[in-house]
Amino acid sequence: MVIQCCVCKKVRVKGYWRDVPVRHGKAPVSHGYCPRCAEAAFAEIRALRANTSLNSVQSLTA
Ligand SMILES: [Zn+2]
Repeated sequence: MVIQCCVCKKVRVKGYWRDVPVRHGKAPVSHGYCPRCAEAAFAEIRALRANTSLNSVQSLTA
């Protein structure tokens, strides 16, 4: 199983994230996030949730 970051296209090989594209051969490729992009994605999700809860509070109190 090869895991490729869907954001920066890094490939995880044997537990390490590599910048260099690796020939996958016939190995199945799974897309996910590398740690750095995962952090950025989670930060974005947290920001969206914060905005959403803020908006819902405002709409409730309006
Ligand atoms: Zn990435």
